[in-house]
Amino acid sequence: MTEVKRNTVRALIADAIPKIGRFEAFILLAHILDKPKEYLIAHDDDELTDTTVMTFDMFVSMRLDGVPVPYLIGHQEFFGRYFTVDPNVLIPRPDTEVLIEQALMVTPERPKVLDMGTGSGCIAITIAKECPGSQVTATDFSEAALAIAKNNAEALEADIDFRLGSWWNPIKDNEKFDLILSNPPYIRPNDEHLPALQHEPQTALTDGVDGLSCLHEIVAHAIEHLDIGGWLLVEHGWDQAEAVADLFRSYGLAAIRSVKDYGGNDRVTMGRRP
Ligand code: GLN
Repeated sequence: MTEVKRNTVRALIADAIPKIGRFEAFILLAHILDKPKEYLIAHDDDELTDTTVMTFDMFVSMRLDGVPVPYLIGHQEFFGRYFTVDPNVLIPRPDTEVLIEQALMVTPERPKVLDMGTGSGCIAITIAKECPGSQVTATDFSEAALAIAKNNAEALEADIDFRLGSWWNPIKDNEKFDLILSNPPYIRPNDEHLPALQHEPQTALTDGVDGLSCLHEIVAHAIEHLDIGGWLLVEHGWDQAEAVADLFRSYGLAAIRSVKDYGGNDRVTMGRRP
Protein backbone atom coordinates (compact mmCIF):
# COMPACT_ATOMS: atom_id res chain seq x y z
CA MET A 1 0.00 0.00 0.00
CA THR A 2 1.40 3.40 -0.90
CA GLU A 3 1.24 5.97 1.81
CA VAL A 4 -0.67 9.10 0.83
CA LYS A 5 1.78 11.94 0.84
CA ARG A 6 0.63 15.04 2.65
CA ASN A 7 2.84 17.39 0.74
CA THR A 8 1.14 17.48 -2.65
CA VAL A 9 -1.19 20.27 -3.71
CA ARG A 10 -4.09 17.81 -3.83
CA ALA A 11 -3.44 16.42 -0.36
CA LEU A 12 -3.07 19.82 1.27
CA ILE A 13 -6.25 21.14 -0.31
CA ALA A 14 -8.19 17.97 0.57
CA ASP A 15 -7.00 18.29 4.15
CA ALA A 16 -8.08 21.94 4.40
CA ILE A 17 -11.51 21.66 2.75
CA PRO A 18 -13.38 20.41 5.84
CA LYS A 19 -11.81 23.23 7.85
CA ILE A 20 -12.02 26.32 5.64
CA GLY A 21 -13.73 25.19 2.43
CA ARG A 22 -12.37 24.67 -1.08
CA PHE A 23 -12.57 28.31 -2.16
CA GLU A 24 -10.42 29.73 0.61
CA ALA A 25 -8.05 26.75 0.53
CA PHE A 26 -7.29 27.54 -3.12
CA ILE A 27 -6.92 31.28 -2.46
CA LEU A 28 -4.48 30.75 0.40
CA LEU A 29 -2.32 28.12 -1.30
CA ALA A 30 -2.24 30.02 -4.57
CA HIS A 31 -1.15 33.11 -2.65
CA ILE A 32 1.63 31.26 -0.85
CA LEU A 33 2.90 29.82 -4.15
CA ASP A 34 2.41 33.17 -5.90
CA LYS A 35 0.51 31.42 -8.70
CA PRO A 36 -3.00 31.77 -10.09
CA LYS A 37 -5.62 29.35 -8.72
CA GLU A 38 -5.80 27.54 -12.08
CA TYR A 39 -2.15 26.58 -11.64
CA LEU A 40 -3.07 24.51 -8.60
CA ILE A 41 -5.58 22.48 -10.59
CA ALA A 42 -3.09 21.76 -13.36
CA HIS A 43 -0.35 20.90 -10.83
CA ASP A 44 -2.22 18.99 -8.19
CA ASP A 45 0.45 16.26 -8.03
CA ASP A 46 3.27 18.72 -7.42
CA GLU A 47 5.15 18.20 -4.20
CA LEU A 48 5.42 21.24 -2.01
CA THR A 49 8.31 22.35 0.16
CA ASP A 50 8.16 22.03 3.94
CA THR A 51 8.04 25.82 4.20
CA THR A 52 4.98 25.97 1.95
CA VAL A 53 3.25 23.26 3.95
CA MET A 54 4.06 25.00 7.23
CA THR A 55 2.91 28.39 6.00
CA PHE A 56 -0.30 26.89 4.65
CA ASP A 57 -1.00 25.11 7.96
CA MET A 58 -0.40 28.37 9.80
CA PHE A 59 -2.80 30.26 7.50
CA VAL A 60 -5.47 27.59 7.94
CA SER A 61 -5.20 27.76 11.71
CA MET A 62 -5.33 31.59 11.61
CA ARG A 63 -8.48 31.34 9.47
CA LEU A 64 -9.96 29.00 12.04
CA ASP A 65 -9.20 31.69 14.64
CA GLY A 66 -11.24 34.11 12.53
CA VAL A 67 -8.44 36.13 10.88
CA PRO A 68 -9.98 37.47 7.66
CA VAL A 69 -8.50 36.21 4.36
CA PRO A 70 -7.42 39.73 3.20
CA TYR A 71 -5.12 40.05 6.22
CA LEU A 72 -3.50 36.72 5.32
CA ILE A 73 -2.99 37.48 1.65
CA GLY A 74 -2.38 41.19 2.29
CA HIS A 75 -4.85 42.78 -0.09
CA GLN A 76 -8.50 43.34 -0.90
CA GLU A 77 -10.19 44.41 -4.11
CA PHE A 78 -12.29 47.57 -3.98
CA PHE A 79 -13.95 49.25 -6.95
CA GLY A 80 -11.77 47.24 -9.34
CA ARG A 81 -8.42 47.98 -7.70
CA TYR A 82 -6.29 46.08 -5.19
CA PHE A 83 -5.56 47.71 -1.86
CA THR A 84 -2.89 46.51 0.52
CA VAL A 85 -4.35 45.85 3.96
CA ASP A 86 -3.06 44.83 7.35
CA PRO A 87 -4.70 44.73 10.79
CA ASN A 88 -4.15 48.49 11.19
CA VAL A 89 -6.87 49.21 8.64
CA LEU A 90 -10.44 48.12 8.10
CA ILE A 91 -10.84 45.75 5.17
CA PRO A 92 -12.62 47.63 2.34
CA ARG A 93 -16.24 46.43 2.01
CA PRO A 94 -18.48 46.27 -1.06
CA ASP A 95 -20.97 48.41 0.94
CA THR A 96 -18.56 51.31 0.71
CA GLU A 97 -18.63 51.07 -3.10
CA VAL A 98 -22.16 52.50 -2.81
CA LEU A 99 -20.69 55.64 -1.26
CA ILE A 100 -18.25 55.91 -4.18
CA GLU A 101 -21.01 55.44 -6.77
CA GLN A 102 -23.15 58.14 -5.18
CA ALA A 103 -20.21 60.52 -4.86
CA LEU A 104 -19.39 60.04 -8.55
CA MET A 105 -22.99 60.89 -9.45
CA VAL A 106 -22.98 64.26 -7.69
CA THR A 107 -19.39 65.40 -8.09
CA PRO A 108 -18.59 68.47 -10.14
CA GLU A 109 -15.64 68.33 -12.52
CA ARG A 110 -12.20 68.57 -10.93
CA PRO A 111 -13.60 68.43 -7.38
CA LYS A 112 -11.87 69.26 -4.13
CA VAL A 113 -12.51 66.22 -1.96
CA LEU A 114 -12.01 65.35 1.69
CA ASP A 115 -12.06 61.75 2.99
CA MET A 116 -12.16 61.64 6.79
CA GLY A 117 -10.78 58.56 8.54
CA THR A 118 -9.33 57.13 5.36
CA GLY A 119 -7.94 53.84 6.75
CA SER A 120 -6.55 51.89 3.78
CA GLY A 121 -7.22 54.97 1.64
CA CYS A 122 -9.75 53.08 -0.48
CA ILE A 123 -12.28 55.96 -0.68
CA ALA A 124 -9.79 58.77 -1.26
CA ILE A 125 -7.73 56.85 -3.79
CA THR A 126 -10.73 55.53 -5.71
CA ILE A 127 -12.16 59.06 -6.03
CA ALA A 128 -8.76 60.41 -7.09
CA LYS A 129 -8.53 57.73 -9.80
CA GLU A 130 -12.13 58.05 -10.98
CA CYS A 131 -12.22 61.89 -11.06
CA PRO A 132 -9.45 63.26 -13.24
CA GLY A 133 -8.25 66.65 -12.04
CA SER A 134 -9.56 66.10 -8.51
CA GLN A 135 -7.69 67.39 -5.48
CA VAL A 136 -8.07 64.88 -2.69
CA THR A 137 -7.24 65.30 1.00
CA ALA A 138 -7.42 62.28 3.31
CA THR A 139 -7.10 62.15 7.08
CA ASP A 140 -6.66 59.50 9.73
CA PHE A 141 -5.81 59.67 13.42
CA SER A 142 -3.78 56.47 13.10
CA GLU A 143 -0.22 56.87 11.88
CA ALA A 144 -0.09 53.17 11.02
CA ALA A 145 -3.22 53.48 8.89
CA LEU A 146 -1.86 56.54 7.09
CA ALA A 147 1.30 54.61 6.25
CA ILE A 148 -0.81 51.91 4.56
CA ALA A 149 -2.92 54.52 2.76
CA LYS A 150 0.23 56.27 1.49
CA ASN A 151 1.58 52.96 0.20
CA ASN A 152 -1.67 52.31 -1.61
CA ALA A 153 -1.70 55.79 -3.11
CA GLU A 154 1.83 55.33 -4.38
CA ALA A 155 1.13 51.86 -5.80
CA LEU A 156 -2.02 53.08 -7.54
CA GLU A 157 -0.43 56.37 -8.61
CA ALA A 158 -2.90 58.62 -6.86
CA ASP A 159 -1.80 62.03 -5.65
CA ILE A 160 -3.36 62.57 -2.22
CA ASP A 161 -2.74 65.14 0.51
CA PHE A 162 -2.58 62.88 3.59
CA ARG A 163 -2.93 64.42 7.04
CA LEU A 164 -2.63 62.94 10.49
CA GLY A 165 -5.35 63.81 12.98
CA SER A 166 -8.80 63.13 14.30
CA TRP A 167 -11.88 64.28 12.35
CA TRP A 168 -11.70 68.08 11.85
CA ASN A 169 -8.40 68.65 13.68
CA PRO A 170 -6.18 68.47 10.58
CA ILE A 171 -8.51 70.71 8.54
CA LYS A 172 -7.91 74.46 8.55
CA ASP A 173 -10.82 76.76 9.47
CA ASN A 174 -11.09 78.29 6.01
CA GLU A 175 -10.68 75.08 3.98
CA LYS A 176 -13.63 74.22 1.74
CA PHE A 177 -14.46 71.15 -0.34
CA ASP A 178 -16.93 70.11 -3.03
CA LEU A 179 -17.26 66.65 -1.53
CA ILE A 180 -16.75 65.45 2.02
CA LEU A 181 -16.80 61.67 2.39
CA SER A 182 -16.43 59.36 5.35
CA ASN A 183 -16.91 55.80 6.46
CA PRO A 184 -16.48 56.42 10.19
CA PRO A 185 -16.75 53.89 13.03
CA TYR A 186 -20.50 53.49 13.48
CA ILE A 187 -21.06 50.16 15.20
CA ARG A 188 -22.48 50.34 18.72
CA PRO A 189 -20.02 48.93 21.28
CA ASN A 190 -22.61 46.35 22.39
CA ASP A 191 -23.56 45.29 18.83
CA GLU A 192 -23.77 41.51 18.56
CA HIS A 193 -21.74 41.59 15.30
CA LEU A 194 -18.71 43.31 16.78
CA PRO A 195 -17.07 40.19 18.29
CA ALA A 196 -16.97 38.61 14.81
CA LEU A 197 -14.87 41.60 13.67
CA GLN A 198 -12.32 41.26 16.48
CA HIS A 199 -9.34 41.06 14.11
CA GLU A 200 -10.03 44.44 12.54
CA PRO A 201 -9.06 47.71 14.24
CA GLN A 202 -11.83 48.35 16.78
CA THR A 203 -11.35 52.11 16.52
CA ALA A 204 -12.32 51.86 12.84
CA LEU A 205 -15.49 49.94 13.69
CA THR A 206 -16.97 51.38 16.87
CA ASP A 207 -16.96 54.78 18.54
CA GLY A 208 -17.28 53.08 21.90
CA VAL A 209 -20.32 55.27 22.61
CA ASP A 210 -23.58 54.83 20.71
CA GLY A 211 -22.50 54.33 17.10
CA LEU A 212 -23.47 57.91 16.23
CA SER A 213 -20.85 60.03 17.99
CA CYS A 214 -18.30 60.13 15.15
CA LEU A 215 -21.07 60.65 12.58
CA HIS A 216 -22.30 63.55 14.73
CA GLU A 217 -18.82 65.07 14.93
CA ILE A 218 -18.46 64.90 11.15
CA VAL A 219 -21.92 66.26 10.31
CA ALA A 220 -21.69 69.05 12.91
CA HIS A 221 -18.91 70.90 11.08
CA ALA A 222 -19.40 69.76 7.50
CA ILE A 223 -21.30 72.82 6.36
CA GLU A 224 -18.42 75.12 7.41
CA HIS A 225 -16.13 73.16 5.10
CA LEU A 226 -18.41 72.69 2.11
CA ASP A 227 -18.61 75.06 -0.81
CA ILE A 228 -22.13 76.16 -1.67
CA GLY A 229 -23.81 73.18 -3.34
CA GLY A 230 -21.10 70.82 -2.05
CA TRP A 231 -22.07 67.38 -0.78
CA LEU A 232 -21.48 65.42 2.41
CA LEU A 233 -21.78 61.63 2.06
CA VAL A 234 -21.37 59.26 4.99
CA GLU A 235 -21.63 55.53 5.42
CA HIS A 236 -23.60 54.30 8.44
CA GLY A 237 -25.27 51.28 10.01
CA TRP A 238 -28.40 49.62 8.59
CA ASP A 239 -30.62 51.19 11.27
CA GLN A 240 -29.02 54.64 11.47
CA ALA A 241 -30.38 56.33 8.31
CA GLU A 242 -33.12 58.24 10.14
CA ALA A 243 -30.86 59.42 12.95
CA VAL A 244 -28.18 60.48 10.45
CA ALA A 245 -30.71 62.29 8.23
CA ASP A 246 -31.92 64.13 11.37
CA LEU A 247 -28.35 65.21 12.08
CA PHE A 248 -27.96 66.41 8.49
CA ARG A 249 -31.18 68.45 8.82
CA SER A 250 -30.32 69.93 12.19
CA TYR A 251 -26.93 71.13 10.90
CA GLY A 252 -28.47 72.82 7.87
CA LEU A 253 -27.84 70.40 5.02
CA ALA A 254 -30.44 70.07 2.24
CA ALA A 255 -31.49 67.60 -0.46
CA ILE A 256 -30.98 64.82 2.09
CA ARG A 257 -31.40 61.24 0.95
CA SER A 258 -30.34 57.77 2.00
CA VAL A 259 -29.19 55.06 -0.36
CA LYS A 260 -29.31 51.29 0.13
CA ASP A 261 -26.42 48.87 -0.18
CA TYR A 262 -26.70 45.71 -2.29
CA GLY A 263 -28.02 43.85 0.74
CA GLY A 264 -31.04 46.19 0.72
CA ASN A 265 -30.03 48.11 3.88
CA ASP A 266 -29.83 51.89 4.14
CA ARG A 267 -26.07 52.44 4.08
CA VAL A 268 -25.20 55.91 2.84
CA THR A 269 -26.80 59.26 3.67
CA MET A 270 -26.02 62.36 1.66
CA GLY A 271 -26.98 66.01 1.68
CA ARG A 272 -25.65 69.30 0.35
CA ARG A 273 -24.92 72.79 1.52
CA PRO A 274 -27.75 74.96 0.20
N1 GLN B 1 -19.66 48.05 7.50
C1 GLN B 1 -18.70 47.57 8.43
C2 GLN B 1 -19.18 46.27 9.04
O1 GLN B 1 -20.30 46.18 9.44
C3 GLN B 1 -18.42 48.59 9.51
C4 GLN B 1 -17.69 49.76 8.97
C5 GLN B 1 -17.62 50.89 9.93
O2 GLN B 1 -17.86 50.79 11.14
N2 GLN B 1 -17.32 51.98 9.40
O3 GLN B 1 -18.45 45.32 9.08
